[in-house]
Amino acid sequence: MTQTPARLLIIGPQGSGKGTQGARIADLLGIPTISTGDVFRANVKDGTELGLKVKALIDAGDLVPDDLTSEIVRDRLAQEDAAEGFLLDGYPRNLGQVGDLDVFLDGRGEPLTAVIELSVPRDESIARLSRRAAEQGRADDNEESIAKRLSIYESETAPILDVYRERGIVDEIDGVGSLDEITERITVALAARGITA
Ligand code: ADP
Repeated sequence: MTQTPARLLIIGPQGSGKGTQGARIADLLGIPTISTGDVFRANVKDGTELGLKVKALIDAGDLVPDDLTSEIVRDRLAQEDAAEGFLLDGYPRNLGQVGDLDVFLDGRGEPLTAVIELSVPRDESIARLSRRAAEQGRADDNEESIAKRLSIYESETAPILDVYRERGIVDEIDGVGSLDEITERITVALAARGITA
């Protein structure tokens, strides 16, 4: 089969393991991960102007405005290391951002080639989140912020999957199992689309 470029999005509720699996898959394929959450957290940590702007929103579990978020992603995608492929983690996460990303990628003639949907039952993702809260101490892993992020996921993020499903690019992956098992499931699904290392 001819090789398909790896222009990927990984999507799943908080606690689905999308960050971990996204990093593994990007590593295997030799493409950069673009995680908006990581970009924002790094800016908060470094006390940049952007960090100061977004800290309160992130801690409360609210979304950063689309314009700001989309601009950051466009800048990142324009860097050379993303020319051959990339994996987006955490963006787009609402329909407005899907539109922004479409304008940018269609302009380059390089649409997304696969969307990995990680499915995890709600009680499992909540259990994983409380474990992460204990281990990592992320400021937004408190009960209130988690509840808000999960509800935004359901109301704003899950609907974007319908858009991508209509394009025939969504692979639903069972996110329960060992880390290696889940990575293997994703790898197999991508290979079926001609996306390989
Ligand atoms: P999680 O999926 O656990 O919420 P992320 O690291 O993806 O963690 O995001 C952390 C926070 O960063 C979000 O709650 C939000 O405030 C902000 N953020 C990340 N990505 C986006 C995005 N695409 N649009 C708006 N805000 C975002």
